[in-house]
Amino acid sequence: MPNVYERLGVRPIINASGPSTRLSGAIMPPEVAEAMREATQYCVDIAELQARAGQIIAEITGAESGYVTSGAAAGLLLGTAACVTGLDPGRMNRLPDTTGMKNEVIIGRSQRNFYDHAVRSVGIKLVEVGIADRYSGAGVRDTEAWEIADAITPQTAAVFYVAYPHSLPSLKQVVEVAHAAGVPVLVDAAGQLPPASNLKRFIAEGADLVSFSGGKAIRGPQSSGILCGRRDLISAVALQHLDLDILWEQWNPPPSLIDKSRLPGAPQHGIGRPCKVGKEQIIGLITALRLFVAEDPEARRKRWLGLMEALVAAAQGLPHAEVTLSVDRRRPETPGVQLKLNEEAAGMTALDLVRRLQDGNPGIHAGPGRVSEGIVTFGPMCLKEGEPELIGKRLRELLK
Ligand SMILES: *Cc1c(COP(=O)(O)O)cnc(C)c1O
Repeated sequence: MPNVYERLGVRPIINASGPSTRLSGAIMPPEVAEAMREATQYCVDIAELQARAGQIIAEITGAESGYVTSGAAAGLLLGTAACVTGLDPGRMNRLPDTTGMKNEVIIGRSQRNFYDHAVRSVGIKLVEVGIADRYSGAGVRDTEAWEIADAITPQTAAVFYVAYPHSLPSLKQVVEVAHAAGVPVLVDAAGQLPPASNLKRFIAEGADLVSFSGGKAIRGPQSSGILCGRRDLISAVALQHLDLDILWEQWNPPPSLIDKSRLPGAPQHGIGRPCKVGKEQIIGLITALRLFVAEDPEARRKRWLGLMEALVAAAQGLPHAEVTLSVDRRRPETPGVQLKLNEEAAGMTALDLVRRLQDGNPGIHAGPGRVSEGIVTFGPMCLKEGEPELIGKRLRELLK
C-alpha cells in the first residue's frame, strides 16, 4: 500500500544526514502524532494555550517563562524584536523601522551564519566584533569578551550568541560583560540537543532568551521551536506574535503571559505574526518535549549507537573505503559513522559518492560536511531500523 507521499508521487528518502529542515526534520514519535491529531478536533484560545505551554517550558528549562515558536529561527526574530521594543506597543507597531530605538545587536564575527537573517529582519544593524584567527590558522584567538564589552553603546539592544560546543568566548563570559552594561543576551541553541541538560544549561549560565528547534532532536513538529527566558521579554514576544484582532475591552490575556494592566494599549499584529504557530504545533511540541526529557539519555545513546554499529557492519569489506564509528568527544550521545574514500582507487570523489547515494532509489542522504577531506558522514537521528542495511547494500553497488 503506497504511503501518503507516494500517493502524491513524492519519494520518501533515507535520511542518514540528520534532522535538517531541507530534509523535512525528524521522524515524530507516534504519541506526538496522535496528540496532534486530537488537538485538531477542538478550538481553544490560543493565548491561553501558549501560556500553559510556556509554564511547562519554564519548568523544563528553569527559565522564568517560555513560548512555542514556529522554529528556532522564528524564535530569533521574536527574541530580537522583544529586546528592541521591550513592552512598548508603539515601538512594536513601528517595527521593522527602529528609528529612535536601541537598534544594534552585537555578534562575534566567527558566529555569523545565515540564520542571523532572522535577527536582522527586525530592522537592527548587526555589529560584528573580533577576528577568528583560529579558523584561518593565522593565530590562536577568537572574539574575546572584552571586545564585546567594547562594542556596547547606548544603541545596543542585545548581544546575540550562537551556542556550539566550540563557541568562543564562553556564554558565561559574554553574559558577564553584557549584563554589566544592562544588555540582554539572546542565544541560538537550535541544534544543541542532546544533551537534554542543555535545555537548562544556557538559562543557568545567565542567557536572557534561548531559542531551540522543536523539529530536530526533540522530534516535535518540523515547524516548531522553543523560546525560553525572562518573563518580560517573553511577554514582549507574545505581544508581537499573537493575533491581536480583538477589542481592548474584550481582550483578556492570561496574566502569566501578558500583564494587561502594564500596557497603555494593545499593539496591532506585530512583526512576529507571520511566524504563526498552530494549536497542533503547540500540543505536538509540548508532547515531544516531555517525551524527550523523559527518555533515559543512555537508552537514547544506545539506540543511536545500535543504528551506527549496524551501518558499520553492513559496510564491512567495502572496496576503496574504510568505514568506522566516530564519536565526537564533545557530543558523546550522538555517535556517527565516517566513510573515508580512497578517491583515486574508487574513481570518484567523496562528493560524487554523496551525489550518487542521493540520486538512487530510494535516495540516501549522507552528510557532505567533510567531502573535501574525502570523507562522507552518516548520522543516526533520522534513521529507521533496517535502513543501515539498505545503505550498506547501496554503497556496495556504487563502489564495486
Ligand atoms: C537548525 C538551525 C536553526 C533553524 O532552526 P529552525 O527550527 O529550523 O528554525 C537556526 N540556527 C542554527 C544554528 C541551526 O542549526
